[in-house]
Amino acid sequence: MSNLTFEEMNLSQEILNAVKDMGFEEATPIQAQAIEKIMDGKDVIGQSQTGTGKTAAFGIPCIETINPENHSLQAIILSPTRELAIQICEEFRKLLKYKENIKILPIYGGQPIDRQIFALKKGIQIIVGTPGRIMDHMKRRTLKMETVKLVVLDEADEMLDMGFREDIEIILKKIPDDRQTILFSATMPREIIELTKKFQKNPEHIKVARKELTVPNIKQTYYEIKEKTKLEATSRLIDMYSPELSIIFCNTKKRVDDLVEQLQGRGYFAEGLHGDLKQQQRDIVMKKFRGRTIEILVATDVAARGIDVDDIDIVINYDLPQDEEYYVHRIGRTGRAGKTGMAFSFVVGREIYKLRDIMKYTKAKVHLGKLPSLTDIEEAKTNNFIEKIKNVIEENHLSKYINLVEKMMNEDISSIDIAAALLKMNLYDEESEDIDFEDDFTDSEKMIRLFINIGKNKKVRAKDIVGAIAGESGIPGKSLGHIDIYENFTFIDVPKKYAKDILKGMKGKKIKNNKVNVEKAKNK
Ligand code: ADP
Ligand code: MG
Repeated sequence: MSNLTFEEMNLSQEILNAVKDMGFEEATPIQAQAIEKIMDGKDVIGQSQTGTGKTAAFGIPCIETINPENHSLQAIILSPTRELAIQICEEFRKLLKYKENIKILPIYGGQPIDRQIFALKKGIQIIVGTPGRIMDHMKRRTLKMETVKLVVLDEADEMLDMGFREDIEIILKKIPDDRQTILFSATMPREIIELTKKFQKNPEHIKVARKELTVPNIKQTYYEIKEKTKLEATSRLIDMYSPELSIIFCNTKKRVDDLVEQLQGRGYFAEGLHGDLKQQQRDIVMKKFRGRTIEILVATDVAARGIDVDDIDIVINYDLPQDEEYYVHRIGRTGRAGKTGMAFSFVVGREIYKLRDIMKYTKAKVHLGKLPSLTDIEEAKTNNFIEKIKNVIEENHLSKYINLVEKMMNEDISSIDIAAALLKMNLYDEESEDIDFEDDFTDSEKMIRLFINIGKNKKVRAKDIVGAIAGESGIPGKSLGHIDIYENFTFIDVPKKYAKDILKGMKGKKIKNNKVNVEKAKNK
């Protein structure tokens, strides 16, 4: 069923040409099943995950049923957000490329209503809008519902979640009974079933089998970590894979805001997207994300729904989702259009049981991973850099620089030395020279024992040592662990991740006026 081509359906040449231009080779399973049924005039319930081509699944038959000679309104698409309404409209416009006399208009809040009214007067056959704004137009009688023959509810569960139920019912009641009603929803909660019973006639329920819910070309990995290492783990994954675009999911708005701040603090181009933002702010964020001025979008489930940006390289579940269905939606953001995507999930403690449920539900294997060490990241960066060098050589606009190299070679500097020096300047910063302690990140929670060469003989007390270490190396005193002070020396447990800073900070310093030597203790 899934291999049906568009040519095998009963479609007009204009649509076939448009679909070809859009690069669609064959119909997706939901398209293969929904398009003909809708063209046959049946009411349809379509259920499949994000990214499976639902827009064209209703868009193609919708366009085919429009009579271009007739300039009255014939189809209404209801969408939960303005963002999605615009996306649907864009997809429709591509499908309409060779259909000259069919006009479509998006209608949503935040845009001057006068302009919409003016546009509507020019004879629009399809509108795509949010329920709220469509209600406004109905009240002003600027939309004539009597001629509507087809209505589509896209992301119906989402619209109900957003409180549009009443508006939807009012709108549907206004549209003549002989209409066709199509409903797309990722999930089928009781409220949706009630809605379909009330407003659809013998609907055909098309459900893309759960097996197909997870996209095969997404590599799914999980990491068992602690809450407080999530940020570091995120940085490492981003540094390791250098994604152009990634989405990180958190379970609450507050956690989105916090994470955005922390990522920005670490120098990443990250911004957040959640329900508290005004529509205009959301648009700005999305525009930046599409234009790649931001590389990381941190979002809640609801805010990210329906956003269609391809080329997402990585999805990170910073928090494991509450609902298994959400997991599928989240990771479905990546691995689109035949590309391979990566999905990483952080699992804290007992959440492993939730992950097991997710695996059972999606019938997918999520592999336990080991977070990249700093060495891994360095290696990845080096390889990246070497790739870049190769590309530059291939592009071959180098004559100016070759002259420079020749000049240096005249001063008896070898070309190998020049190249090595340039690599060093570009690749290795001071920080990355000594990474002994941090090789294994999953152990970095653990403490490491340091040796200090003074003890009771010099009358030092624990608070002197803690004070000196905290003061000299700038780490929080309370993060230091157990201290054993002996006659001639002292042992102190410190977090592994700070060990390097402490050793550096204490070099040549004094405690209670005694010059000290701090080093890694043997045997632990
Ligand atoms: P959904 O509404 O199910 O989340 P969309 O309709 O937004 O999915 O489609 C996701 C992406 O897949 C879009 O970029 C769309 O252009 C593309 N797409 C849709 N149908 C096909 C197809 N048959 N072949 C290839 N790409 C497709
Ligand atoms: Mg959609």
